[in-house]
Amino acid sequence: VKVGIIGAGQLGRMLALAGYRLGVRTVFLDPDGESSGSQVGRTIVGEINDAARIRELAAEVDVLTFDIESLAPEILAETAIGTPIYPPPAALAVTRDRLFEKRLFGEIGFPTAAYLRIDSSQDLATVPSTLDWPVVLKARRLGYDGRGQRIVRNQAELATAWETLGGGAAIAEAWVDFERELSLIGVRDSAGNTAFYPLSENIHDGGILTSTFAPLEDDTLQSDAEECLLAIMRKFDYRGVLAVEFFQARSGLIANEIAPRVHNSGHWTIEGADTSQFENHIRAILGLPLGSTAARGCSVMVNLLGEIPPRDVLLRVPGLYFHDYGKTPRPLRKLGHCTIVDTDRKRLETRARDLRNIVKL
Ligand code: AMP
Repeated sequence: VKVGIIGAGQLGRMLALAGYRLGVRTVFLDPDGESSGSQVGRTIVGEINDAARIRELAAEVDVLTFDIESLAPEILAETAIGTPIYPPPAALAVTRDRLFEKRLFGEIGFPTAAYLRIDSSQDLATVPSTLDWPVVLKARRLGYDGRGQRIVRNQAELATAWETLGGGAAIAEAWVDFERELSLIGVRDSAGNTAFYPLSENIHDGGILTSTFAPLEDDTLQSDAEECLLAIMRKFDYRGVLAVEFFQARSGLIANEIAPRVHNSGHWTIEGADTSQFENHIRAILGLPLGSTAARGCSVMVNLLGEIPPRDVLLRVPGLYFHDYGKTPRPLRKLGHCTIVDTDRKRLETRARDLRNIVKL
């Protein structure tokens, strides 16, 4: 069995590694033949939105998937006829655009931060009558890891921020005074069976995920979060892994962002759950039974951003799982991650603190 993955970043790499154990071969399409994923699977070198290259990939695999959201869904719909693509390109078309994403939350009746559509400088003038300062200005497309967004405190800052974001289609979003940030990762197969990992708590710095703790100590929000994912999955007749990021506010969960793919906040599942998010994605898109999403104790995952601490220091930490994505260091780039799993939450917290000291978070 062969899976074609469009995009060969670290997510593609970890998908390929999960498939490898199941006897599944992977072929990538990526502009960089030496990328993180390309190091573990054959790669067709080409642009991810090149219809001819996608067709070439489609011709030699049983199913297509992707590890990147800058893919143009309309190209997928046009080119890969004959080869199934999961998750559905229709889900990608919505989730890659922050305005469509907001509307989707409205459609399924799930709370999300108040927002305004910004298409012109005239639209900027209407912001203060609708939203309180501060406001988060977010480009509708191609924003990730805090890129493409600015926090602004007044009209003048808003105008400048819009210009620095290129003056294009954006949304202005109310600031959410959250207690913490959570995410839920779920998976759905072709028969409509679903499985959900326990909610995790995510710590961000400058919009970039730095660490994840899972599962949450209390599970009172789990069913609300599952309802949100279920509604999205049903809408698209979804197949594969889906992630949603939430703010936990006093009023409850506020949905922030959807990713139609495996997600950084689910990396802990590689060692911390019965079946990893990567394996469950491969299982779902190939029509194999979904694996148990139960957590094995509690986990902390710490991202390695910009530089990898000395390996001998990391590898000396007892029980530490070290993942190096094989990427060239660049400031704030996600180069790898570490996970520690423990049966005792208190002890895990101490071990997590020690790890964060090594990683200098
Ligand atoms: P996003 O790209 O939308 O996931 O935003 C990245 C991070 O910026 C989030 O994880 C939050 O930490 C922060 N953030 C984004 N939007 C808001 C908001 N409306 N209110 C408060 N913090 C936000």
